[in-house]
Amino acid sequence: MDFTCGQIKSWLLNLSKLIQEKKEELSLYDQAIGDGDHGINLARGFKEVEQLLKETEDGDIGALFQRVSLALLSKVGGASGPLYGTAFLKMAAVCKGKKALSLQEWGLALTEALNGLKMRGKAEPGDKTMIDVWEPVVDYMVRAGQDLSWQKVKDIAVQSMEKTKELQARKGRASFLGERSIGHVDPGAVSSCYLFQTLADQLQK
Ligand code: ADP
Ligand code: MG
Ligand code: MG
Repeated sequence: MDFTCGQIKSWLLNLSKLIQEKKEELSLYDQAIGDGDHGINLARGFKEVEQLLKETEDGDIGALFQRVSLALLSKVGGASGPLYGTAFLKMAAVCKGKKALSLQEWGLALTEALNGLKMRGKAEPGDKTMIDVWEPVVDYMVRAGQDLSWQKVKDIAVQSMEKTKELQARKGRASFLGERSIGHVDPGAVSSCYLFQTLADQLQK
């Protein structure tokens, strides 16, 4: 089954709602090992995404992702703004001119997004960043192909987000804390977990 532009817009709207709801919580995670603004940054960016969703007609998914990317790039700031902006820009390139996405195309778009994140942030799995959620989720999606279970996507997202607690940060602000970053979840891993949870909830319908 293909996923429509309308479904993708609903996903982004739900993601934005969740981020607004969890704004304080996300910033608290960032207070522990960063500068305490991750929730504020993302909530600001996704408010802009909500606005553009209202103004965007159903149609070209690539164009939609491109607008989302620009909104995040210009509004989120910090480390996470350029990273999420890059992820959506890479997805936009794969989805250019498409009115619906197959599961395979989703896998391709998310793989490109992950590659973009890695290139932009120069982080590897295990560095305690959002990559620690993206990599296992995308890996699973590509491997599972048509046998994909959205429940499994959610499980992997949550488990890998929780695992960042045990890691020592080697990238971003949290790396300044050295060993003291151990014992806390990575805020960007939490927001990425929200991204995949809301995606799975939307697309499994
Ligand atoms: P800032 O650290 O500039 O205040 P945010 O608080 O919005 O920005 O985002 C912090 C999150 O960004 C981290 O929790 C981490 O997941 C992610 N991050 C930071 N640096 C990198 C990097 N080099 N590669 C991947 N993700 C990163
Ligand atoms: Mg921060
Ligand atoms: Mg900051």
